[in-house]
Amino acid sequence: MRPFRYERATDPASAVALLAGSPQAAFLGGGTNLVDLMKLDVARPDLLVDVRGATSRAIEELPDGGVRVGAGVSNSDLAADPLIRLRYPLVAQAVLEGASTQLRNLATVGGNLLQRTRCRYFQDVTTACNKREPGTGCSAIEGDNRDLAVLGASPDCIATHPSDLAVALVAVDATVQTIGPAGGRSIPLTELHRLPGSAPQHDNVLAHGELITAVDLPSLPFARRSWYRKIRDRASYAFALVSVAAAIDLADGRVRDVRIALGGVAPRPWRATRAEDLLRGRPVSEERLRRAAAAELADARPQSDNAFKIPLARNAIVRTVLDLVGRVP
Ligand code: SF4
Repeated sequence: MRPFRYERATDPASAVALLAGSPQAAFLGGGTNLVDLMKLDVARPDLLVDVRGATSRAIEELPDGGVRVGAGVSNSDLAADPLIRLRYPLVAQAVLEGASTQLRNLATVGGNLLQRTRCRYFQDVTTACNKREPGTGCSAIEGDNRDLAVLGASPDCIATHPSDLAVALVAVDATVQTIGPAGGRSIPLTELHRLPGSAPQHDNVLAHGELITAVDLPSLPFARRSWYRKIRDRASYAFALVSVAAAIDLADGRVRDVRIALGGVAPRPWRATRAEDLLRGRPVSEERLRRAAAAELADARPQSDNAFKIPLARNAIVRTVLDLVGRVP
């Protein structure tokens, strides 16, 4: 690992100030992804600004009925919180499916959202990778791409976003609160992560020195009926081949509202708006669900090794929503 300086910030403003003057500096949360990347020589910060003492570790109700989660909350505390478990069970489930207990104890909510792809070539500095070294090429397109994207990819990068939590938060329309050199702002989680296009080195829309301080979950009573299903190669501690976060609001057998997001299939958490639009206002049936899932995957473009993800994602949408409907009292 290369030498680096370490500073401990005590509040968000000082964290931003410490980072702003150093183009190669990075914020440090739990370090469960960043430190691995430093050991692999993929990440090379010359300064780490530890924000664990600068960001809130509180989970609190908002006046509008939503819930604010401090960026410094550990993944374990988020999954165990009674408010989250009751009102947003898909969020708690996604976190519990996300990693080992040891990692969940260290990893923070803010860091979870900003973790980087686990594409094997991104993590191997001996290979070409446009995300790690722009302009060098994409080794995955002709290489091992079984785990990679079928939606939203570009000729320059076909990586997937690894976070389970982000998929659940996209499904409930969460908003990220940030503070940066230009001040504070709110970013809908659906807009936080970028598609690769011709600049895959940029995973998200945050500016250098912009710090996530909290994640706001809106009031969404029907999210009490929600589910996160993760399909992976082994039962413990693996990234999603496909995952589905879903919540449904039924009235008189019809879908009053529905939220569906996919993980493991795209460079960012994938909100399934086409499928949602085909389901709202209509009775639930397996056939309608299959049509909605097919519409969502209609633009999917498989690589040489991952065509299986397309029917897997379709079937996972159908099964997850049917399971939720089966839970109607
Ligand atoms: Fe790099 Fe993206 Fe290609 Fe993986 S898919 S090798 S991250 S450019």
